[in-house]
Amino acid sequence: MAADTILSIENIEVVYNKTIQVLRGLSLSVERGKVATLLGSNGAGKSTTLKAISNLLALEDGAVTSGSITFDGKPLLAETPHGLVRRGMFHVMEGRRIFEDLTVEENLTAATFALSGRGVKPTPFDLVYGYFPRLYERRHSRAGYLSGGEQQMLAIGRALIAQPKLILLDEPSLGLSPLLVEEIFTIIARINRETGVSMLLVEQNAAVAFAVSHYGYIMETGKIVLDGPTERLIKDEDVREFYLGMS
Ligand code: ATP
Repeated sequence: MAADTILSIENIEVVYNKTIQVLRGLSLSVERGKVATLLGSNGAGKSTTLKAISNLLALEDGAVTSGSITFDGKPLLAETPHGLVRRGMFHVMEGRRIFEDLTVEENLTAATFALSGRGVKPTPFDLVYGYFPRLYERRHSRAGYLSGGEQQMLAIGRALIAQPKLILLDEPSLGLSPLLVEEIFTIIARINRETGVSMLLVEQNAAVAFAVSHYGYIMETGKIVLDGPTERLIKDEDVREFYLGMS
């Protein structure tokens, strides 16, 4: 593993309910400070890959049955969500999973609790509001009343609180208008540039994801079938036709 690799997945297999094999020897890595995108059609296993990294499979009766995952130079063992945050990883899940009954600011405050004992100061809320001025305007509103785009902003803003080294982002464009998708991805790129946080993005919207990514992986039925720097992938004829909708 290269010294500047923050996340390395080697040959993992994942099985649900002891019978349904979903990942079949998947390997990928994320370089420190870079954005990698994982693309694939519905059901290819993208969300399962993120859940394997952040140890959420057991909740769905799934398990990694072979292979290894290394984060920041150390194996990722059975970590709790708080343990992962303390180690510097944050998973922004599909569907956002914010606390709908709490206000925007209370959601950010809740994110600071996971940091106790890590010796890391939470990111000042002003920095989060700097990236997402709309969250500042709505800081006293209940999160459940926010629009889909604002909820996505809150989910990403909450991830920033713990000064993570790596953010896993599952379909940030889901359910958003093209204009908002554009806006969110512009902010994602800015956050990466300015804070140096590494990111692993899972997306269906290949064009916007590739525009902010350094490296891309394409998976089909549980394993990677193509990978490379995004500037190379966007020139690949199959990628253009099947994922970017161009020819
Ligand atoms: P999508 O874009 O639709 O979310 P995906 O690439 O993220 O797709 P996954 O959600 O990882 O795909 O699902 C991969 C496969 O695993 C699918 O065939 C799905 O039916 C199956 N699967 C996912 N979760 C479970 C589960 N809890 N139990 C059994 N099978 C599951």
